[in-house]
Amino acid sequence: MAPKKRGTRKRKTEETLEGDKEEEGAGDRGEEREIKRGDRGNKKYIGAHVGIQGGIWKAVASCTEMGGRSFALFLGSQRSWKRPALDQAAAAKFQEQCTLQGFDPAHILPHGSYLMNCGSPKEDVFEKSQALLVDELSRCSALGLNLYNFHPGSSLGSITTEQCVDKIAAAINHAHRQTPAVVTVLENMSGQGSTVGGKFSELRSIIDKVRDQTRVGVCLDTCHAFAAGYDLAAEGGVKAMLDEFDQVVGLHYLKAIHLNDSKGKLGCHLDRHEDIGKGHIGISAFRDVVNEPRLDNIPLILETPGRPGFEYAEQIELLYSLCENK
Ligand SMILES: [Zn+2]
Ligand SMILES: [Zn+2]
Repeated sequence: MAPKKRGTRKRKTEETLEGDKEEEGAGDRGEEREIKRGDRGNKKYIGAHVGIQGGIWKAVASCTEMGGRSFALFLGSQRSWKRPALDQAAAAKFQEQCTLQGFDPAHILPHGSYLMNCGSPKEDVFEKSQALLVDELSRCSALGLNLYNFHPGSSLGSITTEQCVDKIAAAINHAHRQTPAVVTVLENMSGQGSTVGGKFSELRSIIDKVRDQTRVGVCLDTCHAFAAGYDLAAEGGVKAMLDEFDQVVGLHYLKAIHLNDSKGKLGCHLDRHEDIGKGHIGISAFRDVVNEPRLDNIPLILETPGRPGFEYAEQIELLYSLCENK
């Protein structure tokens, strides 16, 4: 569903595409943008990972201000295993803002805590991770959200990949039993250290062990994929990666994309995000991403470092400018 109301000029101009002329910002600028964005751009939900400082509801307006149509956010502090209960008033305000600014839950992708390791060989860490996963899924429900993205886990080199996969699937099954309908979205990894999920086949193995497969999906991070060895920089690289993903995992499991260029080279296994077009993946791969029909209507989320004059707003604008008319 397309956003209905805009808080900034950028978003208002887009509204003119939907035929609503009453807001300021309609007119010449809007038409100019319509030509630039084209049909393909209208189906692309490009946004960014936004902060929650000062209140979780503030994330919504931050996204609007940068011209985004989708966003990611953390659900709490990245430093603590135990968090205060979600404030009901804050949750209500968040939902109110989403409605007001026209964001559909399908385009909002919370990102799980970095503390979590659902594949951990250490029993205490595994148990704490399992509990945090349940807590985070419950928060998603309270916020009216139905997608939740997290890093599968790491064997820390002391158990096999298969044993790690078993633990991750067990944590997901446990969380599914404890919480209602939120879809757990596994992120592909760069293959750094002993993380699981760098290879599509590993994601497939986890999914195979999940009981309710209507509640599991994948978010493909372009930087991680490139670092893991999927050559997005090659001509036709984006299509080739999606073809392989479709064969190994299944395209219907693809719920979102993280749009990041890579500081590291192909196959380096380093998780080092770079601004769009400034890394080893390069701009032409991102042109292919934003013109790829298989990526219509899902969140396409930037997690780039940003630099002066080329922050999220400018990178979102650049990506929309790459969308072709047909
Ligand atoms: Zn991530
Ligand atoms: Zn990511």
